[in-house]
Amino acid sequence: MALKTPREFIQTIADLDLEIYMFGERVKDYVDHPIIRPSLNCMAMTYELAQYPEYEDLMLATSHLTGKKVNRFTHIHQSTDDLVKKVKMQRLLGQKTGSCFQRCVGMDALNAVWSVTYDCDQAKGTDYHERFTKYVQYIQDNDLVVDGAMTDPKGDRGKAPSQQEDPDMYVHVVERRDDGIVVRGAKAHQTGACNSHEILVMPTVAMRAGDEDYAVSFSTPANTKGISYIYGRQSCDTRKLEGNDLDVGNARFGGQEALVVFDDVFIPWERVYLCGEIEFSGALVERFAGYHRQSYGGCKVGVGDVLIGAAALAADMNGVPRASHIKDKIIEMTHLNETLFSCGIACSSEGHRTPSGNYEIDLLLANVCKQNITRFPYEIARLAEDLAGGLMVTMPAAQDLASEKTGPLIEKYLVGVCDTPTLDRMRVLRLIENLTLGTAAVGYRTESMHGAGSPQAQRIMIARQSNLDHKKELARALAQTGRPWEKAKLTRPAAAAK
Ligand code: SF4
Ligand code: FE
Repeated sequence: MALKTPREFIQTIADLDLEIYMFGERVKDYVDHPIIRPSLNCMAMTYELAQYPEYEDLMLATSHLTGKKVNRFTHIHQSTDDLVKKVKMQRLLGQKTGSCFQRCVGMDALNAVWSVTYDCDQAKGTDYHERFTKYVQYIQDNDLVVDGAMTDPKGDRGKAPSQQEDPDMYVHVVERRDDGIVVRGAKAHQTGACNSHEILVMPTVAMRAGDEDYAVSFSTPANTKGISYIYGRQSCDTRKLEGNDLDVGNARFGGQEALVVFDDVFIPWERVYLCGEIEFSGALVERFAGYHRQSYGGCKVGVGDVLIGAAALAADMNGVPRASHIKDKIIEMTHLNETLFSCGIACSSEGHRTPSGNYEIDLLLANVCKQNITRFPYEIARLAEDLAGGLMVTMPAAQDLASEKTGPLIEKYLVGVCDTPTLDRMRVLRLIENLTLGTAAVGYRTESMHGAGSPQAQRIMIARQSNLDHKKELARALAQTGRPWEKAKLTRPAAAAK
């Protein structure tokens, strides 16, 4: 089957008839719901850009399974060049959407499960990798979106999965049958879940003895019986219900998160990729997180490009583009943004081949990348708010601009430099508001903090990967520790000796 067009993608999501709840009610026409639709448009961009020859090199890859061209979001990375192109593709999509385009979680999950199933089979004689290979080919052949589902609700963070008072705090196996397993639990903060054809579930923490029922990985169609979605709210989301695009700031695109509930869902064995092998759950978490921490060095940078551009436009419209402190702030924003990109590229270029044949990023550098992401977008946003000025959060509503009475007053008093229409100035300020405080701020700010793991998770990995012993050895070698000091050979400067 060929690559899907954006229209085909949206129709196939509509055909799933997912069980989605929002504001306490089931949403039937979800692809046309004003709050959901921008997130669907955003995901559709991963299909649209794949149709353009100028983006083919980034958006498409050659499947190592079939030799056919596939969307890079379904690709198993075959080289460090693939890893670099992945980051560049994500920057491009961030630039085109100014939002989280959601499809990366599936790409990162496919690559993590790919190598872990291989390692598990080698160690334990299971046949998970063969099953998973068939699944990857199915995803590639049909150009599907996969929701990589890792984060469990976790309940009491001080207790292991099997020690929780409520056993459903982590997704777990409640029944083993001849033909498959039955699972129960939930996955929280699931990016793009309601825009996905498939869900690929992975454990969220390293497991210990006693946690066997929780060490489970499987895939299932998003509309499998027993799966429901509770839509996540975003700051200022109801502006999308007001029927005008001005106050939304970025009316066409947006991100999406949902709480996905698995209420006794049956999974046939051919879709199970880990079931009880506790020693491989930690590796799966580490690899998925590593790939997704690399991803942020692309997507957040692309959104950062939009924010820097908007801040510079706001300065132009205020008539101050040449003020030295304005120029310096834009330089600082650019410096921070490109530093993030450098991290994304570096962990990709320094990647390596795994025994399973796919390529993995340098884990230390990927964690450094994400650690910086937990900080720099906040500073870039702070500087953007500085350049935008207070009007960004005190502007009247679009309805006031439309009113015969107040519209002319707004036009007159909120103008900046005279050749810029007041409406354009308002549009740019609303875009900055959207990126720093509105719906897109979920993706650009809080997700920069917690997405792909909160800051402390990266610090643990940095400590683990930093090879401190090697650094100590370097220092020892130069300091010549352990070498006896030969007092007799001490020479004094001639002048001091007199
Ligand atoms: Fe992709 Fe970034 Fe969204 Fe993650 S946060 S799914 S990497 S766009
Ligand atoms: Fe994310």
